[in-house]
Amino acid sequence: MRLFDLSGKVAIVTGGNGGIGLGMAKGLAEAGAALAVAGRDAAKNAEAVAELARLGARAIAVPVDVTNEESCKAMVARTVQELGRCDILINNAGTNIRKRPEEYTLAEWRFVLETNLTSAFVCSLAVYPEMKKAGGGKIVNIGSMMSIFGATFTTPYAASKGGIVQMTKAMACAWAQDNIQVNAVLPGWIDTALTRQARAQIPGLHEKVVARTPAGRWGVPDDFAGIAVFLCSPASDFLTGTAIPVDGGYSVQGAA
Ligand code: NDP
Repeated sequence: MRLFDLSGKVAIVTGGNGGIGLGMAKGLAEAGAALAVAGRDAAKNAEAVAELARLGARAIAVPVDVTNEESCKAMVARTVQELGRCDILINNAGTNIRKRPEEYTLAEWRFVLETNLTSAFVCSLAVYPEMKKAGGGKIVNIGSMMSIFGATFTTPYAASKGGIVQMTKAMACAWAQDNIQVNAVLPGWIDTALTRQARAQIPGLHEKVVARTPAGRWGVPDDFAGIAVFLCSPASDFLTGTAIPVDGGYSVQGAA
């Protein structure tokens, strides 16, 4: 269907080598996009590229550390050099350090903010000239339930994910005139490397999430293929500045 067709489009997915990022990359691949899988771990990048190639997609691995501005610029340059253009950016790379607020060092605060929020700003600025040149583009930023809620052990993470939503709105306003749509996705609790660590640290977390989620299960990376295609395709051309929960209903569940 033309509405969801991404043939001829080129997408960069930061953190596209696993978890939610790979789930999104697979959706874009099935819709016809060529992919740049961008992460630090070369072995994971190569595995993800092989998986996307098995789906019939053109895919390349691009090494990047999103906390480094030069590395982000090089990621975009390499993508354009090898795949010819850049129409889509998914700012998905992220991390967390779980502590009470009074226990963080300033270095830890900065590390989480730089990985989750500043990186999305830097990568968006790096792709902007390419999207302008192409006559438009799609940027998808990954927030969290911590874009909405707070929790004891997530101060810098929640600050970064709240910031993602406001940055999304501001860039959406600024770049609408360039036909660039900027939206955010707020995942619920998804089974990935990131949350496997939290599940190991927090007794009962698995059951608590299942009980609170109307869908009655944890999400899986493949749950993000559809929203990625929608937000990166002509189907969403009049949708910008939004933050869409993909959470099995977690964020709308009342107490009774
Ligand atoms: P993963 O740990 O599976 O993925 C994180 C990805 O980010 C990896 O591919 C990692 O690749 C990449 N990454 C981390 N730091 C950097 C860096 N400095 N430079 C480049 N890449 C980096 O976790 P998820 O799939 O769960 O997380 C993806 C996103 O979804 C994150 O933004 C996370 O905050 C968000 N999210 C996840 C939720 C969940 O329940 N899982 C819930 C809400 C939000 P590499 O190590 O190779 O660099």
